[in-house]
Amino acid sequence: MSVLEKITSEDAIALENKYGANNYHPLPVVLNRGEGVFVWDVEGKKYYDFLSAYSAVNQGHCHPKIVGAMMRQAQRLTLTSRAFYNDVLGAYEKYAAETFGFDKLLPMNTGAEAVETALKVCRKWAYEKKGIAENEAQIIVCENNFHGRTTTIISFSNDPVARENFGPYTKGFIKIEYNNLKALEEVLKSTSNIAGFLVEPIQGEAGVYVPTEGYLSAAKALCEQHNVLFIADEVQTGIARTGKMLAVDHENVIPDILILGKALSGGAYPVSAVLANDAVMDVIGPGNHGSTFGGNPIAAAVGIAALEVIKEENLAENAQILGELFREALNKFIPTCDLVTKVRGKGLLNAILINDSEDSDSAWNICLALKENGLLAKPTHGNIIRFAPPLVINKEQLLDCVSIITETLKTFDR
Ligand SMILES: *Cc1c(COP(=O)(O)O)cnc(C)c1O
Repeated sequence: MSVLEKITSEDAIALENKYGANNYHPLPVVLNRGEGVFVWDVEGKKYYDFLSAYSAVNQGHCHPKIVGAMMRQAQRLTLTSRAFYNDVLGAYEKYAAETFGFDKLLPMNTGAEAVETALKVCRKWAYEKKGIAENEAQIIVCENNFHGRTTTIISFSNDPVARENFGPYTKGFIKIEYNNLKALEEVLKSTSNIAGFLVEPIQGEAGVYVPTEGYLSAAKALCEQHNVLFIADEVQTGIARTGKMLAVDHENVIPDILILGKALSGGAYPVSAVLANDAVMDVIGPGNHGSTFGGNPIAAAVGIAALEVIKEENLAENAQILGELFREALNKFIPTCDLVTKVRGKGLLNAILINDSEDSDSAWNICLALKENGLLAKPTHGNIIRFAPPLVINKEQLLDCVSIITETLKTFDR
């Protein structure tokens, strides 16, 4: 008997519950196929995917160009480790570095690893280039941030569920309010030991919280003034999601360190990266950092294909246009519905706010009903529902989804 025989949704869920650690609370849907904006469950029901694996699948499920590149490379060479060179990594590094306008790229696998990498690069730069005394470097972060799950990263989270009972915590971080320039300036003025400012251009996990226009460019200017590295975590907002290649592009900000992940592979493979110019990246030498799988030939081949798809299919422009259409349609609906108070977002990274307390199960129940009606989305932070479809969605599909969403919401309206 094969380990992977045909299975019902109920049995698949029971297996995960019994044999898997309980670190997620999934919507009760078991998927086994995806194509473009659609996924299918094991019973054959078709859904619009409005999560896109937290914006990893920007290029759509199983994009043939990305899957093709992955399969060709998998049959030729999968892993060399960085003990040897391979013939794909350099081409990928050049293509990605030029795409985003940086001198150098450091390849990793997951988003959290890339964030860790950026923190290490930033600290080393602070000691060797800025001249901060040993072990004194501080990095400014924002309240309600989400940068991943490692022990250092959760040390500067303020989400109790992510953080409690995982101490002792890593030192060297100062937390300030997001979207508050005064708070940033005060910390920068209070000490000369600041190495960097780590920020999400839009706080995705916090509930698609978009800062005031001008915040990012003013924050970058403050960092420059104080010789502090501006580190943009674009793991979720990058790669065309918000209507530009990067979310910082909306304010013409060039970060000193750029962190990418998720859609850098179109969701086909774990591929993440840190990009910086030589003056920063050159602090890293042999042995300072690495990863067995980081920069492997499959990741490199997939990374090139994933970025090519974004450009060839004009996905940033599509996200910009359809994002505006989506918010416009929901803004027309909201005054007719007591249940939803607001839609916010940029490009195709959007969220609606449900008129209920944060610990109510309204958002969860709405997501269950959306699932019944053929659209998959998940609550983030209680009463907020994020809507982030693959960027290959077309206008007709988007309007179909708007109608699923509004019709579903109507059934909950009191
Ligand atoms: C998802 C995410 C990460 C972590 O990426 P993983 O691949 O899950 O480790 C980091 N930063 C942001 C902004 C993210 O959305």
